[in-house]
Amino acid sequence: MGDTDRWVVSFADADETQKSLLGGKGSGLAAMTHEGLPVPAGFTITTDACRAYYEADASVPPGLWEQVDDAITDLEATTGKRFGNESNPLLVSVRSGGPVSMPGMMDTILDLGLNDAAVAGLTEHSGDESFAWDAFRRFTQMYGEVVLGVDGEALHDATAPPDASNGHRDLSAEDRLIAVKQIIAEEAGVPIPDEPREQLQRAVVAVFESWMNKRAVDYRHVEGIADDLYTAVNVQVMVFGNTGDDSGTGVVFTRDPTNGEPGLWGEYLQNAQGEDIVAGLRTPQPISVVHDLRPDVFEQLTEASKSLERYHGDMQDIEFTVEKGKLWMLQTRSAKRAGQCAVRCAVDMVAEGIIDRAEAVRRVSPGDVEELLHPVVRPKEGTEPFVQGLAASPGGAAGVVVFTADEAEELARDGVKVVLVRIETSPDDFHGMVAAEAIVTARGGMTSHAAVVARGMGKTCVAGCKDLIIDAEAGMIRSANGTIARGELITVDGTTGSVYLGAVPTVEPQLDSYFDTLMGWADDLRVLGVRANADTPQDATTARDFGAEGIGLCRTEHMFFERERIAAVRRMIMAESVEEREEALKVLEPLQAKDFEDIFTAMAGMPVTIRLLDPPLHEFLPPKGETLAEIADLESRLAGDIEADEQDEIVERIGELKRYIVQIGRLSEVNPMLGHRGCRLGISYPEITAMQARAIFTSAIRCVRAGIEIRPEIMVPLVAFAAEYENQKAIIERVAEEVFSSEGMRIEYEIGSMIELPRAALTADEIGASAEFISFGTNDLTQTALGLSRDDSGRFLPGYADMGIVKANPFESIDESGVGALVEMGVLRARSANPTIKVGVCGEHGGDPNSIGFFAKLDMDYVSCSPYRVPIARLSAAHAALARDISATTSA
Ligand code: ADP
Ligand code: MG
Ligand code: MG
Repeated sequence: MGDTDRWVVSFADADETQKSLLGGKGSGLAAMTHEGLPVPAGFTITTDACRAYYEADASVPPGLWEQVDDAITDLEATTGKRFGNESNPLLVSVRSGGPVSMPGMMDTILDLGLNDAAVAGLTEHSGDESFAWDAFRRFTQMYGEVVLGVDGEALHDATAPPDASNGHRDLSAEDRLIAVKQIIAEEAGVPIPDEPREQLQRAVVAVFESWMNKRAVDYRHVEGIADDLYTAVNVQVMVFGNTGDDSGTGVVFTRDPTNGEPGLWGEYLQNAQGEDIVAGLRTPQPISVVHDLRPDVFEQLTEASKSLERYHGDMQDIEFTVEKGKLWMLQTRSAKRAGQCAVRCAVDMVAEGIIDRAEAVRRVSPGDVEELLHPVVRPKEGTEPFVQGLAASPGGAAGVVVFTADEAEELARDGVKVVLVRIETSPDDFHGMVAAEAIVTARGGMTSHAAVVARGMGKTCVAGCKDLIIDAEAGMIRSANGTIARGELITVDGTTGSVYLGAVPTVEPQLDSYFDTLMGWADDLRVLGVRANADTPQDATTARDFGAEGIGLCRTEHMFFERERIAAVRRMIMAESVEEREEALKVLEPLQAKDFEDIFTAMAGMPVTIRLLDPPLHEFLPPKGETLAEIADLESRLAGDIEADEQDEIVERIGELKRYIVQIGRLSEVNPMLGHRGCRLGISYPEITAMQARAIFTSAIRCVRAGIEIRPEIMVPLVAFAAEYENQKAIIERVAEEVFSSEGMRIEYEIGSMIELPRAALTADEIGASAEFISFGTNDLTQTALGLSRDDSGRFLPGYADMGIVKANPFESIDESGVGALVEMGVLRARSANPTIKVGVCGEHGGDPNSIGFFAKLDMDYVSCSPYRVPIARLSAAHAALARDISATTSA
């Protein structure tokens, strides 16, 4: 080394563990070389050299070219070939390869080293003139594109073999070269250097430069790969798959990357060079063809694939070439795989003794599991979406276009599959969203009502399709790609954000025994409990099936929205005295009790946290505009010619609607989110709390009598002052004693508080002192800590993320240093006053992998999330436990 740094290392000498220095490709080539696999000789120019190049304002570091020269001299010695030689020329590939795989994003040049002398040499050595000219043409074309920046499209067209579309003559290899040279001369204005060493230097610099090409930069930003990793450059002796029918090139995966089935999976192209597969000029054949053509090569490939898997401890994606019957390995890397494959492969590899269970769990990402839980849309190649929006809730579904929630509900009742298309959705649309297969909105972001609710339901949703025009009046939706009428079929891909006209094929998710096995291992590893937010027995059952260990949030208000009940709820709201209100509540109580009984039954043996009524009362009244419209409509009917009893009915209805209007006026608030809701309601109307408590205790006792084990937890919402909590707790306890004495039986239960206001977090010691549990409602806590309503954040919050003002959307992933600090403080304070208090989280964050990692660090007891996210939470909780294990061992 001496004065200058070492920038170049041969595959044979490289330490393959230095992946950040050698890049993934370089490290893989070194490892294969050391394993004794047949790898064409070569060397790696390190990522440090590329970094130095950028740090020195695009000039190569001192010593680099000397070291490259030496390495070429070594290659010449080992191969007996010489750069530019007129009888046996050395040809190399110059290949990019960063520390993290970025397939196809950077550049590579093949067949470098050709000039007029060398092409003669190649002809002489191979005995195949047209092969030699073809190699020269390939080199010239790639050099023109990569180094000289000539439009690849034009070069490609000029050399395409004849077909019906281009009307080309069948050009000879030499003629193609001439065509390519001509385009390069016209476009670049400079010739390609003859001297191979000069070609090499320029190619190396071009590969350095390709680290910063737009494609690569964009890819890194989407994939979250750092810009300062830089690329290595691998220079490698060429081998040729295009020297006849006993040659070819292929790509194999060591297992099927869609479903993880063992056995080689891939493609092979006879008499072709590696880039021909990617170029798509010829259709490759399934890998099994190698078995038919060359059983010995297939055998060797199978062996190599097994040893590479064992060596890397992971499924591999391998590039190889066969030259005159001899196998050459050109690349190996961890294979990208679908969720189903990720799970099966991890489980199989444990059985095969390649990895342990912890590693298997670590290998599977939350995204893999998410993918498994939703049907997947598989459009035919080349299918253009009708419109594109945000991939708000994954999965795929098809249905006919409808514009209103009622329409959705009606058609769905008749068994028609519908997609609800709206400008945006509101809580009024909920029943339509339930009925629909998927939801599409023109406005709103990833945390819009449509997106959040759809994700909660595990329903496909594409939100914020900016170019979608909804003309409900004309019964049409429009985009730049045409018009679709109400009732026409569309397919929604919530995983990519695309909406297609017509039925696009989907594949159903498959939760197989591999999934169960892996999730079982995750459960063994995790410390954090996982519960579900579920409001109905169906949700509770789904949650249980997905492995929830209880319900962390059962919202009672949804139960009030059902058709028969809403009338009683409205009567309760309209009541002018406590007695009148209690009358209405009496109607609701047995219905609520039945709801609870069903949920307790579904969750037998597990805790169920029931939250008392939370939303402001006016949410239960019809919208004002609708009510006024109905009044106007009825009044015009009155003016017409109708029978007397019908007239009475209409008059009565108008009277009712007018009373609604009065109440809507009385109850409506400037800012309902911060208004008369949560425990504030229960304090103003203690009879509501009492009714809910009575429904809980009577249903609980009924379950116990039926032999069902129950663990009710009653949760008081939107507490700011400990005294509010105490107030509600006193009512619940009083009712409990009343029910226990009238039923002649006592049951165990817990009372706790939601912590969803900053003041509650700050005084969690006061609240926690008399609570058996607290649960952080991180949705409201984020809204109130940020002073920002989630529904109004869509206009600017995505821009904040782009500008780097926020790292992630705080409504999706907990804002650790702000909202998270409040949570941490709340946990510590509550525990200081009550060391045995149970601490949980309910809210969207309870199903977010990053947030779960954070909650695990606070040693919380459980997270609670929507049923469909339960497996994701179980896995993320296991990842959190594994991460803590590692930090515990490294800090020990
Ligand atoms: P990418 O990272 O985009 O796959 P590669 O550097 O792997 O780019 O090269 C592109 C193609 O060229 C691949 O098919 C590869 O197998 C082939 N190739 C690269 N080096 C050689 C070589 N020395 N001999 C034959 N083919 C090669
Ligand atoms: Mg490659
Ligand atoms: Mg809340």
